[in-house]
Amino acid sequence: MRFKHREEQLLVRDTVRAFARTRIVPNARAWSEAGKFPLELLPELAGLGLTGLGVPADLGGAALDALTTALVMEELGAADGSVALSLGAHNSLCIGHLLIAANDEQKRRWLPPLAAGTHLGAWALTEPGSGSDASAARATATRDGDGWVLDGQKQFITNGSLAGFAVIVVRTGERELSAFGVARGMPGFSAGKPEDKMGLRASDTSSLILEHCRVSDADRIGTLGRAFDDVKRVLDRGRIGIGALSIGLGRASLETATAYAKERRQFGRAIAEFQMVGFKLARAATELDAARLLVHRAAARADAGKPFSVAASMAKLYASEAATRAADASLQVLGGYGYLRDHPIERHLRDVRLMEIGEGTSEVQRIVIARSLVRAS
Ligand SMILES: Cc1cc2nc3c(=O)[nH]c(=O)nc-3n(C[C@H](O)[C@H](O)[C@H](O)COP(=O)(O)OP(=O)(O)OC[C@H]3O[C@@H](n4cnc5c(N)ncnc54)[C@H](O)[C@@H]3O)c2cc1C
Repeated sequence: MRFKHREEQLLVRDTVRAFARTRIVPNARAWSEAGKFPLELLPELAGLGLTGLGVPADLGGAALDALTTALVMEELGAADGSVALSLGAHNSLCIGHLLIAANDEQKRRWLPPLAAGTHLGAWALTEPGSGSDASAARATATRDGDGWVLDGQKQFITNGSLAGFAVIVVRTGERELSAFGVARGMPGFSAGKPEDKMGLRASDTSSLILEHCRVSDADRIGTLGRAFDDVKRVLDRGRIGIGALSIGLGRASLETATAYAKERRQFGRAIAEFQMVGFKLARAATELDAARLLVHRAAARADAGKPFSVAASMAKLYASEAATRAADASLQVLGGYGYLRDHPIERHLRDVRLMEIGEGTSEVQRIVIARSLVRAS
């Protein structure tokens, strides 16, 4: 049984890899330069189940476990950081929050169109004044008859200006956060202009603006005032995905550098024969493998129903930093050519840098890990 499951996981991985190599890799540079997410790709992504990775089959999803999702995220990351990040926010954050906290009626209402790729989803926690300290969010939901009125601004929201639906976390009391599902086009709900980013340029990042946006109590997700607990659980799963995505970006950089090192000749021989070049490749390969083991351990713990918060922080911390080192060393192997846009490594390096910041910075991951050590001693 377990062996059969392993075979299915590898089949999913190989299918996504083949799709990504033909439909994503050849276009990634053009999408990045256009600075636009390829919405036209959504039906194909949906056809492969990539817009409903963890959604149950009876709601139209692929019902993948955390480990298979990590395999998928690595393949997407190896193809294009932007597509991977946008799908990560859609699946792990937006859909992830619904899977964790929405009631059955809300799941039936919101999940099928998200899984079908009818529209992208977004998840809005960060604000201009609250990033790492997410509990300090200032956007509010105020009781108004039988509904709620939302006011405030969300910052840095992946898929923000494209999403048809967003989960938005706001304050409902002095020390209480609650989450609401808000559909695109609702009066008082709008997106700011997309941010002009260093990398991940085909992934939309926009602010979301709430101006007296009226929603019903049936749009409130989870227990009133307890959304911060759900947010932490959403981020734990999201961090496994960011770790896997990072490994994909590092792996793609390393593959380019290895192929180049075999071809490029200086001083009468292939540069791969120089020990200092070989050592760069060896270090990157070893660190990416270690990162993969950490990511797979966190995912396996999640699938087994074991606590995985600290394992997810370790995986995300190590994988994002190892992948940045791998992309940077790979660029160096290409010398001056690595600095040109002709090769994908400069894009991977710009893309991977975000992974040390989004879904909790490296500093925040270290705080989570250190606190767990102190608690345990
Ligand atoms: C491309 C992109 C996509 C994003 N997508 C989303 C999304 O979809 N949804 C969403 O809600 N958010 C999203 N974010 C926001 C992201 O999660 C935040 O940027 C991140 O959590 C950091 O918050 P901040 O930028 O406000 O930095 P700050 O919290 O202001 O941190 C600034 C610096 O201070 C450090 N720091 C802060 N507190 C401490 C501490 N206690 N100890 C030590 N150092 C500390 C940080 O590590 C960092 O180096 C996205 C951001 C980007 C850039």
